[in-house]
Amino acid sequence: MYKTTKLKDTPTTSKVHVKKNDEVLVISGKDRGKRGKVLRVIPTKSAAVVERVNFIKKHTKANPQRNIKGGILEREAPIKLSNLQVICPSCSEPARLGRKATEKGSVRVCRKCKTEFSN
Ligand SMILES: [Zn+2]
Repeated sequence: MYKTTKLKDTPTTSKVHVKKNDEVLVISGKDRGKRGKVLRVIPTKSAAVVERVNFIKKHTKANPQRNIKGGILEREAPIKLSNLQVICPSCSEPARLGRKATEKGSVRVCRKCKTEFSN
């Protein structure tokens, strides 16, 4: 007898291993080695905006009607999730994450120290 898979039990966000407010380490690209807090995750693009990481210079045109000054604005650009590794809050190491089913649903687990993530 086959066990049927209930698709609704698997939220689409569960495939994303990075969540908002996680501390992450950049493992490739020009910002390799930097650590920062995740400000925003964009699951549709498999990317995240990380504090102080991947700064881009954005040239803005002056728009007096919207009170925008022209010039160069520096801001964070999204970085691919595959370039990021979550830092375990328990052992403070960049950790590979596993998943564990609990009563509350699936939680992320650090594969190094086996600590469950609270979020
Ligand atoms: Zn850990």
